[in-house]
Amino acid sequence: MRPPLYITMHERDNVAIVANDGGLPVGTVFPSGLTLVDKVPQGHKVALVDIAAGEAVRRYNVIIGRAAKAIPAGSWVHERLLDMPDARSLEGLPIATVKPPPLAPLEGYTFEGYRNADGSVGSRNILAITTTVQCVAGVVDFAVKRIKSELLPKYPHVDDVVGLEHTYGCGVAIDAPDAIIPIRTLRNISLNPNFGGEVMVVSLGCEKLQPERLLPPGSFAIVDERSEPQALDVVCLQDDAHVGFMSMIDSVMKAADAHLQRLNARRRETVPASELVVGVQCGGSDAFSGVTANPAVGFCTDLLVRAGATVMFSETTEVRDGIDQLTSRASSPEVADAMIREMAWYDAYLRKGQVDRSANTTPGNKKGGLSNIVEKAMGSIVKSGSAPISGVLSPGEKAKQKGLIYAATPASDFICGTLQLAAGINLHVFTTGRGTPYGLAEVPVIKVATRSELARRWHDLMDVNAGRIADGDASIEEVGWELFHLMLDVASGRKKTWAEQWKLHNALVLFNPAPVT
Ligand code: CA
Repeated sequence: MRPPLYITMHERDNVAIVANDGGLPVGTVFPSGLTLVDKVPQGHKVALVDIAAGEAVRRYNVIIGRAAKAIPAGSWVHERLLDMPDARSLEGLPIATVKPPPLAPLEGYTFEGYRNADGSVGSRNILAITTTVQCVAGVVDFAVKRIKSELLPKYPHVDDVVGLEHTYGCGVAIDAPDAIIPIRTLRNISLNPNFGGEVMVVSLGCEKLQPERLLPPGSFAIVDERSEPQALDVVCLQDDAHVGFMSMIDSVMKAADAHLQRLNARRRETVPASELVVGVQCGGSDAFSGVTANPAVGFCTDLLVRAGATVMFSETTEVRDGIDQLTSRASSPEVADAMIREMAWYDAYLRKGQVDRSANTTPGNKKGGLSNIVEKAMGSIVKSGSAPISGVLSPGEKAKQKGLIYAATPASDFICGTLQLAAGINLHVFTTGRGTPYGLAEVPVIKVATRSELARRWHDLMDVNAGRIADGDASIEEVGWELFHLMLDVASGRKKTWAEQWKLHNALVLFNPAPVT
């Protein structure tokens, strides 16, 4: 049994979280002399001092709420004792005010990747079959199974075959302004660096999202810049030539075979770490997310930026309450304005559904000690490290620059992952406290546990245990470096993540704010 321990995030905080597995009983005396007057579960907050009714409750040196009634020192500070503050106005924010000293370049780190014709680099060599509409999903699934069993064994340098299934394409208001989001998401996913530019499409024929609309001529130049613009490779199921189901399967397999031959001829080559494009997100968060895993990811984010790589953080409702931190860290007023534009768009989107950012927190978050979205956001935002924010992407856009980028996405794990795939990630980092077996077929997902208890219980699902930080067995810097080295190993194919090992593949989930018809 470890001695009773609480973790404070900032010297001005008047609450801290209980670190011990299983929580601590009433009467527990901490080395500081603080005595618990309530039983406090692990990860939940304890009042360090007497807090008067109406007084600010601070964690991360941020007001996470006001005391609904007097809270004596040593009390369990739970959700019902906190009145949540309103979201910060998007007017009058500090704009590009923080000029952090430039981070020293980190040189000499490399990985083995697949260089694409457009200069991007894949961490895997995968044949992706793009679909225009959900109607074809069953056929593509059938074909993919046969491709895996009959064709893939002939092509040992190809890692996998993936059908890019989704629920879009028909029954949608295709000309609504916001329809651009799901359409460009699908387009950019099919151009993800892990697919080597070998774009092939399966279409039904009568759907609203026609292949030329999904991938107009010139939009898939990744294929090969040396040759003439190529015609899009489309298998159309309603084509007259298809007589019976098996002829459709034959067509898909024939098309796949040509792409597999080219993919199989590719080899990994040594490339600088600057070719990493890493998406970070969290899911199933708890109070340790912002203490262990996310700070370690944030340290690693800084390492990636120093190495010249691209790293993106996302999840709009989980950064909304820290918008002033982000606009002040923007590298230019234009970047800050773009950040505000995305927040304002999302505020309006939520308002249309008669909710606000507080709809984000889950029962599991609360069980894990996170009282509200303000507290959750402060823990989430630390994944972004300390570098200046040099770019902003709207949902579904592709990253075109290096450095730290804000890719605006919902916080939903699958939608965020899907939009980060569209943004061009070749590696995904996912932190979790409650635990989720999340994985993607398209890019490797490295999962980081916030607590040792979770890492022990889910020993064959979690790739990194950041809980050692709370245990006092490792520093944030040590876990950050461990993650950085693991990224290079995983990107090189030298190591597989647990999600890859077990083939845990969550569905692509498009963000479609446009009407469905
Ligand atoms: Ca998430």
